[in-house]
Amino acid sequence: MVALRKTIIRGGLEGLYFSGMHRVLHPFVGGVGAILMLHHVRPARRDPFQPNRLLEITPVFFETLLRRLKNSALDVISLDEMRDRLVRGNFSRRFMCITFDDGYKDVMQWAYPLLKKYEMPFAMYIATSFPGRLGELWWLALEAVIARNERVAMDFAGEEQVLDCRGAERKQAAFDAAYSYLRSLQTEDELRLVIRDLCTSYRVDIASFCRDLCMNWEEIGQMARDPLVTIGAHTVNHVMLRKVPSDAAAREEMDESRSAIEAAMGRRPDHLAYPVGDPTSAGPREFRIAAELGFKTAVSTRPGVLFAEHRGHPTALPRISINGEFQKARYLDVLLSGAATAVWNGFRRVNAA
Ligand SMILES: [Zn+2]
Repeated sequence: MVALRKTIIRGGLEGLYFSGMHRVLHPFVGGVGAILMLHHVRPARRDPFQPNRLLEITPVFFETLLRRLKNSALDVISLDEMRDRLVRGNFSRRFMCITFDDGYKDVMQWAYPLLKKYEMPFAMYIATSFPGRLGELWWLALEAVIARNERVAMDFAGEEQVLDCRGAERKQAAFDAAYSYLRSLQTEDELRLVIRDLCTSYRVDIASFCRDLCMNWEEIGQMARDPLVTIGAHTVNHVMLRKVPSDAAAREEMDESRSAIEAAMGRRPDHLAYPVGDPTSAGPREFRIAAELGFKTAVSTRPGVLFAEHRGHPTALPRISINGEFQKARYLDVLLSGAATAVWNGFRRVNAA
């Protein structure tokens, strides 16, 4: 199913590109600007089983992106400047923001030198339990359990099922089944319980992922001193906020990550990204709470470019994902034109419901 979806998306991007459609649509759907979303930037691995590969691009592809931005008529600007232009209605030039979620070391190692080389501002959204070293990067724990075992017994709605994990193809199918089951659970707590059980049974140290992959506070502090860098909040525990039943607990997740960053950096973040960020993870309640907490902007992962109308919804901003499964320069042209997401959204501009 996932492979089929990828083929359709790729077909769609190719179709838009080769038809020249994105150029035709551009004046109508390109909006006033866009916010790009990235996670990891690091050299490709050879492993055939990489279910989280969509979250990473190579340094070479990242530089291709930066070069395209540099040679375009777009202004690459900080989140503060973006908010300012939205509020003032200053749309004389299209703009682009670059954002990274979670706070991975590879961004510091591979992306940061390139961003400095091209003098481009960018933001990093930090889930504060990651530098705190208690975070649960559960999607990577699930990958590790499946990668290291040939059979995996997992609880699906109170019933134990054994997943056949022999070979990359079956591992991918097992991952897809487990992942979609976990994402279908009603609460984040239920998801974490299943994952912790799996990690105990298969001796995967879930805390090892933030230790190995995420920046520590010192590294974040070092980046934060660079005027090119904006540090934003991304909750404490990287929870799908909409799946947190109590309003107070959801509010606390957003507010405490901001306080933790302020305590560590001496500067209070003005910007927020909702973890996972799709409609099942962030909705009207979260958009409202983020506004009440005084965040200047908050971004989801709903796909889309920005329009003047987003001025009225600064805590419900869409982003364009730079997806590791589609690392071709011509896809960038289509994505940056706004045509792909316009088709995706049925040409509806603002979606804050
Ligand atoms: Zn995240």
